[in-house]
Amino acid sequence: MAATTAMVAGCGGMRAGQIVAARSSVPAAGSPSTPTPTPTPPPPRAIDCARTPCVALTFDDGPGEHTGRLLDDLRREGARATFFLLGQNVAPHRDLVRRMALEGHEVANHSWSHPQLTGMSPDAVRSQVRRTNEAVREASGMTPTLFRPPYGATDGKVARAVGMPQIMWSVDTLDWRDRSAARVARIGVREPGKGGIVLLHDIHRTTVEAVPRMLSGLKKRGFTLVTVSEMFHGKQLRPGHKYKNR
Ligand SMILES: [Zn+2]
Repeated sequence: MAATTAMVAGCGGMRAGQIVAARSSVPAAGSPSTPTPTPTPPPPRAIDCARTPCVALTFDDGPGEHTGRLLDDLRREGARATFFLLGQNVAPHRDLVRRMALEGHEVANHSWSHPQLTGMSPDAVRSQVRRTNEAVREASGMTPTLFRPPYGATDGKVARAVGMPQIMWSVDTLDWRDRSAARVARIGVREPGKGGIVLLHDIHRTTVEAVPRMLSGLKKRGFTLVTVSEMFHGKQLRPGHKYKNR
């Protein structure tokens, strides 16, 4: 695989470009070449979010340099989350994407390179979606079933081209703007209601720093932290439709 130039766009704007070399998978001399085994994610949990108060934390634009720490915090608390991944960030962080799937998190699609999809041709939108699904499947063995449009920008034409349920949010922490762990934690604990979906970005250190406080605060409020698919278990999600909470 060739080296790729990854321009990473957060919801709040562009970050500096970076050259990312593909990982070498050359085995040690003398050892047999063993294929990467397909991860076996844990089975779905028996949580009925129609009866139990649930909240879904969603992390967009990654994986990034702080995502490993976030996964440690989630594992420690037994919380599951949903990651809306950028396809261009998957290859440089294959192990993290794999780990997400193995630890029961949901790997979902946030486009390849974070463009504004409205105004793009249907073919270009389809390419953004397809390439990302393929990258995630290649890295984790799991194919995304959910999509979140960059900037939340979508319309009927985009919806038809995407062909997957579009997951929006009910709580916007504005973490990309404020870059304050205290503020993110305060909003993230206070604002979600039953069935709420919280928008976060794991590419920001301050967001990841806020997560332990959010997890304990939401648990104190009686919420179970679930993936988006766990949240909607028993409800049919339709391709192209938008969902902002259960
Ligand atoms: Zn985004």
